[in-house]
Order: sequence, then structure tokens, then C-alpha cells
Amino acid sequence: MTAGADTLAGRLAAVRAGIDAACHAAGRDPSEVTLLPVSKTFEASVVAEAAALGLRRFGENKAQEIQAKATELAALGLDWVVIGHLQTNKARVVARYASEVQSLDRLDLAVALDKALQAQGRGLDVLVQLKTSHEDSKTGLAPSGLPAFLRELKAFSALRVCGLMTIAEHTADEAQVRANFRELYQCRDRAQQESGHELARLSMGMSGDYPLAIAEGSTEVRIGSSIFGHRNYKTEPSR
Ligand SMILES: *Cc1c(COP(=O)(O)O)cnc(C)c1O
Repeated sequence: MTAGADTLAGRLAAVRAGIDAACHAAGRDPSEVTLLPVSKTFEASVVAEAAALGLRRFGENKAQEIQAKATELAALGLDWVVIGHLQTNKARVVARYASEVQSLDRLDLAVALDKALQAQGRGLDVLVQLKTSHEDSKTGLAPSGLPAFLRELKAFSALRVCGLMTIAEHTADEAQVRANFRELYQCRDRAQQESGHELARLSMGMSGDYPLAIAEGSTEVRIGSSIFGHRNYKTEPSR
């Protein structure tokens, strides 16, 4: 099959090649870095097209959008990953339709998710989102709060804490972006030593900065526009 650069298959192949190249440049094995395609704002039909190319997990930032797409595409058995800021009142929808939340950033959300999951007899993989950049628009837990938060999370048996997530500052200053990613890596190492929690996964890197994230130890890159094209935000503020 030939895949032109302007097709989903072509863009996906280019991103995979980019991940391989970044791993090679960093002296890392490409099998250490997972691709999470981010399908937010794109129609279920586009996700179905991506699923036909072999993609099984999709990142979304809204609970309602996951509910709608998961319902429409139920027959495909896809996994839905929450990567956006979550309101506590969305916990039940998330507990029902998502397989993972990467944006866990506060105790009241953990309480609500655990309660909804227990009621449904399910468990959920979670990553703790840390705010490593200094932009006001970014959400996430302050890194200094991580050790205490990890201790608190032990009380929630439906939440499997697997690692950390961050969003780097939106800037052309590569040193600044790398510093944000490096901070996540260092927080992980400190937290593992202090708490004994195994935090194997580091979700960091997006279309504009994933090679830097891979150089700084990312195990998962969340790529939206480089795969699916430009987003057409209807209700969302731009980042
Ligand atoms: C939208 C989004 C992405 C993907 O962004 P692109 O720049 O389109 O690759 C990654 N992570 C989070 C948290 C997002 O909200």
C-alpha cells in the first residue's frame, strides 16, 4: 500500500519515523516509546479510519467526547485515554468509558474516580499530571506536592498509578521545553526512591516537541495534529 504524505496513513508513518529517529539520536530503543494518537475534535469516522490502520488507543480531553465516540465505535473495542483537565462531576462517565486517565492532578478527582469505579467494579490506569511549566494556562499538580499525593493515592484501590504526565511550555525556547521534561523525569526518580511506588511511565511530548521529550526520557508521546491534521475547535479555547 502506498501512503501519500497528505493521508492519515502517510502522516502516521511520518510520525513513527520521527519517533524512531528521535530514539536513535538519543541512543534509545524505539520499543521504549509508545505513541498515543490524540483524536480530540476529530469525528468518530476519522478514529475508525485510524483504527483500520492498527491504532487501538486514543487520547481525548473531554469526557463527553469519549462517551460519544466510544458509543458510536463500540464494535471496534478501542481504548480511550483522558489527557485533559477533568471536572469531578465527569468521574462516572470516565469510569464507564475510559481505560486510563493521564490528567489526575488532585485528591477530589481521585476520590470521585475511585468511588465511580468501585460502583462499576472496574479499575483504571492513572498517571499523575505535574505542572512543570510556569504558564498559568497549564493545569497539573505542583511537583512539590507529588510525594504526599502518591501517599494519599494508596487509599484508592481502583486507581493503578503507573507514572507521570506533563505538558511543556509552549515556546520556541528548546532549553526551556527540555527543562520542563527533565523536571518530570527527576520527579519520577525522586518519588520512586521515596515512596517505593513504581512509576514506569512518563507521558511527555506532543507534535511540536516530542523529539525533545524522547531525548529527556519520555516513554509515551501524545500526538494529535501531526497525525490527524489541524484541529477545528468549535467550543474550545486555543492553547
Ligand atoms: C491536544 C493535546 C495533545 C496533542 O497535541 P498536538 O500538538 O496536536 O500533538 C497532547 N497532549 C495533551 C494534553 C493535549 O491536550
